[in-house]
Amino acid sequence: MEIKAAVVHAPRTPFIIEAVRLEAPRADEVLVKLTATGVCHTDVAIVEQILPLPLPYILGHEGAGVVVEAGRP
Ligand SMILES: [Zn+2]
Repeated sequence: MEIKAAVVHAPRTPFIIEAVRLEAPRADEVLVKLTATGVCHTDVAIVEQILPLPLPYILGHEGAGVVVEAGRP
């Protein structure tokens, strides 16, 4: 499925809201329809590459929402 996400592509650049592809949940995962999320200091550390996770990276890991699907075992 296609979703919208806040994506950072390069260090110390603004994120872009764009369409990204999301796979169906695996056996040990659930699909959550987010109703709210934010960008926290950890996300900023990733953008600044103080926390050097690979880019591109999707920001907003502190979301709240509703589980709409569970992966099949
Ligand atoms: Zn956080």
